[in-house]
Amino acid sequence: MILGAHVSAAGGLHNSIRNGEKLECEAIQIFLKNPNRWVGKEPNESDITQFREAWSASDIVREGLVHDIHLTNLASPKPDVLENSREQFLSQMELADDCGLRYIVTHLGSHLDAGEAEGLKVLSNSLNTLFEQTAGGSVIVLLETTAGQGTNLGYCFEHLRHIIDDSKCPERLGVCFDTCHVFAAGYDLRTEEDYHQTFDQFDQIVGLDRLLAFHLNDAKSQYGSRVDRHEHIGEGNIGITPFQLLANDPRFESVPMVIETPKMETMHVTNLAVLRGLVKN
Ligand SMILES: [Zn+2]
Ligand SMILES: [Zn+2]
Repeated sequence: MILGAHVSAAGGLHNSIRNGEKLECEAIQIFLKNPNRWVGKEPNESDITQFREAWSASDIVREGLVHDIHLTNLASPKPDVLENSREQFLSQMELADDCGLRYIVTHLGSHLDAGEAEGLKVLSNSLNTLFEQTAGGSVIVLLETTAGQGTNLGYCFEHLRHIIDDSKCPERLGVCFDTCHVFAAGYDLRTEEDYHQTFDQFDQIVGLDRLLAFHLNDAKSQYGSRVDRHEHIGEGNIGITPFQLLANDPRFESVPMVIETPKMETMHVTNLAVLRGLVKN
């Protein structure tokens, strides 16, 4: 199991490595900039160098993921939002490459009222443009499964398939499977049978070879509610069973799994300990 957590990069990107090490994370996920702002402080060359140095000096942190800022909507029907989103995403892809971070996780965006087909088309165009602009780069975009709030895309596996099929650069696309979001979107995981059924479905529609990262979150929201609310591992409506199965599933032993559970400053220790305790020797 390559287990880790979303960690803070406050005070400089390199602090994320230290924060990951404190928690004994083999994988970390970070924001490269303030996730709630279009215009904010960007890591400069010295930040990037310090980050790379801290990372290469670390014996613990092996895998690094970037989480896209929250404002991005690469499927937006609004030209100004779409332009900002593409610009921001391009800059994050370039920064990720500079930092040696392999993956950038993004949500599929929302179509607002333009309809799903139109939203997926705009998203495909955005990604094709971004891959063209970063030709030669090595960062891989991970499409995150979503709960499907409002007009958000990505709550069904078919949406992921659609984007992969429409991509001019499918080798730079993968999926980040968020347990809370998938559950809220109506794929059950609560029993061993549900677990296998959901992953069989994912395999048939998307392919397990595309599953390159996990977000391990229990759900405060109800099954099928399309509401995105995370809960501590084993304390929500999903329960401990699927986490135990994931921790011991040989298909996923080299796939990074990061928690995004609440109260990261105080509760990450506990949630990671719970997950580590599930691994059978
Ligand atoms: Zn997530
Ligand atoms: Zn979420």
